[in-house]
Amino acid sequence: MNNRQLFLSHLAQTTDFPLLIEIEKAEGVYMYGANGEKYIDLISGIGVSNVGHRHPKILAAIQEQLDKYLHLMVYGEYVQSPQAQLAKALTDTLPSSLNNVYLVNSGSEAVEGALKLAKRYTNRREIISCVNAYHGSSHGALSIGGNEIFKRAYRPLLPGIRNIEFGSIAELSHINTQTAAIILETVQGEAGIRVAESAYFQALRKKCDETGTLLILDEIQAGFGRTGKFWAFEHYGIVPDILVCAKGMGGGMPIGAFISNQAVMAVFKNNPLLGHITTFGGHPVSAAASLATIKVILEERLIEGVDKKAELFKSLLIHPRIKGIRNKGLMMAVEFDSFDALKPIIDHAIANGVITDWFLFCDDAMRIAPPLTISNDQIKEACDIILHAIDQA
Ligand code: PMP
Repeated sequence: MNNRQLFLSHLAQTTDFPLLIEIEKAEGVYMYGANGEKYIDLISGIGVSNVGHRHPKILAAIQEQLDKYLHLMVYGEYVQSPQAQLAKALTDTLPSSLNNVYLVNSGSEAVEGALKLAKRYTNRREIISCVNAYHGSSHGALSIGGNEIFKRAYRPLLPGIRNIEFGSIAELSHINTQTAAIILETVQGEAGIRVAESAYFQALRKKCDETGTLLILDEIQAGFGRTGKFWAFEHYGIVPDILVCAKGMGGGMPIGAFISNQAVMAVFKNNPLLGHITTFGGHPVSAAASLATIKVILEERLIEGVDKKAELFKSLLIHPRIKGIRNKGLMMAVEFDSFDALKPIIDHAIANGVITDWFLFCDDAMRIAPPLTISNDQIKEACDIILHAIDQA
């Protein structure tokens, strides 16, 4: 059996529409197929490869750590240099109140940790999240997810959850002194790139302060430069109480974190109430890769080019069948009439050398989230291919 047959017969499937591309190698913004195909990657593993694939400085950091040790002990017992250095580098990118980092393996795990922390710190049980939010697939993360279709089959889920409309100041009235936390994506990703006003975030911060509710921002997709700032909340002049991140954090390696203030995080170490334990969280190799990723983003000034690159995409993607483009930096959604209109366009784009897809809760929009390293020429080439694919479809 070839790999495609093995994939279909032995790997559990997650979708009726797997892209089914077989990649041999990836480098920078390119992916290379098993039969000599060359693709421009406009997905970045959904915001993972912000620094491009196989960045040499990240490979070097991984190699250096491989020569020392892989795994020694569960998280939080031994002093492991990559974890300690990473925690410092992360907090250096953040306002001083976000000074304590808990390292995990993935986005969902970061969300789980943040929810537990909020319950424990506030001694409250109610959580508010947003309609059309995606926070992950584990039970807690699913419970706060904002799409009924995905939740229905798994009920009962966590009790005490309420979904409110993302971006609606009026709906913030649901936050009260019983609310442990409100969790939301700073920019909604899987909803198809939905952006809220600054005034909304200001009102949200105020309401949380008035009610003693913790504000958790999920920047798993929006963090690490993707929106044109290192952290997306920097656009809105507010600071969350807990920040969750993953994806782009590891430069292609699995790692995530929830980050808060030392005084908040301290509740986790109070025995005998078990806090949060992870065997692999902040794996030394991933932590070394993550530290290198932060350095690359800052030293190569990758964030400075984001807005101009997004504008270039928007100026080139003009076609009667494109209904509009929503974006925050290089987190972009190109709107079409329907999934039936979009799917053949994506198929043609892939056949012609551009990889893109759609969103979990928005299947009539094309995802554009390339590595932040993409050049203007590569953007032009990708847009030419997309426009041609629209005409072909
Ligand atoms: N939150 C957001 C905003 C996400 O986009 C994702 C992943 N798409 C997650 C959480 C879950 O992350 P993971 O798949 O690493 O568990």
